[in-house]
Amino acid sequence: MSLDEFDLIRRHFRPLASAPAALGLADDAAVVAVEAGHELVVTTDTLVAGVHFLADDPPETLGHKLLAVNLSDLAAMGAEPIAYLLSVALPRAWAAEAADAWLTAFARGLGGLQRQAGIALIGGDTVGTPTDLVLGLTALGRVSAGRALRRSGARPGDLVWVSGTIGDGALGLAVLSGQLPGLPPSQAAALVERYRRPSPRLALGRRLIGVATAVADVSDGLIADLGHICEASGAAAELHLDRLPLSEAGRAFSAAAGFGLADLASGGDDYELVFTAPASAADAVVTAAAAAAVPVSEVGRIVAVPPADPVGRKNSPVQVVSGGRAVFVGRGGYSHFRGNGAEKTGED
Ligand code: ADP
Ligand code: MG
Repeated sequence: MSLDEFDLIRRHFRPLASAPAALGLADDAAVVAVEAGHELVVTTDTLVAGVHFLADDPPETLGHKLLAVNLSDLAAMGAEPIAYLLSVALPRAWAAEAADAWLTAFARGLGGLQRQAGIALIGGDTVGTPTDLVLGLTALGRVSAGRALRRSGARPGDLVWVSGTIGDGALGLAVLSGQLPGLPPSQAAALVERYRRPSPRLALGRRLIGVATAVADVSDGLIADLGHICEASGAAAELHLDRLPLSEAGRAFSAAAGFGLADLASGGDDYELVFTAPASAADAVVTAAAAAAVPVSEVGRIVAVPPADPVGRKNSPVQVVSGGRAVFVGRGGYSHFRGNGAEKTGED
């Protein structure tokens, strides 16, 4: 490591390393206390410039999002976050002042969310790279031993719930790529904010322990992530598009041509929680959500048998229902079909 990199760490990262475990970022590694009767929950995500974000994305929101997506994974496990590690590969081509300005804003984004979450940076790695910027973050959390929420516990008859609103992440990305012109500026800004600055549902996740049978966070899209729960649980699900919780902008655009409910349920980057619980636990779900101050909506149920495949495609374990009819949802949108497979225009 060069002296410059030591200097970058001292100025940009040590202020975030406020926990004793970090040892002031001055030792070879962090030392994290693990309480008896608890388990560590560990997750990591990597963002590559040009692949997972754009070179001109605001570094402050990138810092927020990099930490948020990892905390969202902890939330989906019911874990309480403890600390995180950060790996930064900075392009050698960047001028020192540009790197400095970028890191200042990036660290501000990390700092804002770490304060909210009550955690600190405890270590990491900083290197130069001949290629593009690469950011990696590893988050540590804890749960009582054996209590981590899993994807595998959904059982037929369980209700399917989702937190917050669905589709805003996909709409925010659509705004940024110019696909939603004419949107009122305040709505456009709200959607971009949801895409760039997701709120990990940590308080809800913790309160779902002992209530939910299966949990996942919505990063790939509601249909895909509910599908992951179904696969892990050996079950299938019915998802009712008419019950999808939408933001004001989501409601406006579910009506607009070419961007329907199925697109919102297919889009990624919401970082809400999708979870299942027995119908008898509905009151407990509502209580948990109220305590976490996050709205939840019941959007479907778990069933035993995957839906029949009238159009001869690879079956999804998630049967999407709209207006009382099953709809086929493919990557490029969806199409209605009747039981006889008369309409088969969906894209795969
Ligand atoms: P090593 O030589 O063992 O890789 P380094 O010299 O890279 O250690 O790092 C020195 C200290 O600075 C270590 O405590 C490491 O965790 C910390 N550190 C380096 N880069 C970062 C970073 N991006 N964020 C937080 N801590 C960092
Ligand atoms: Mg190193």
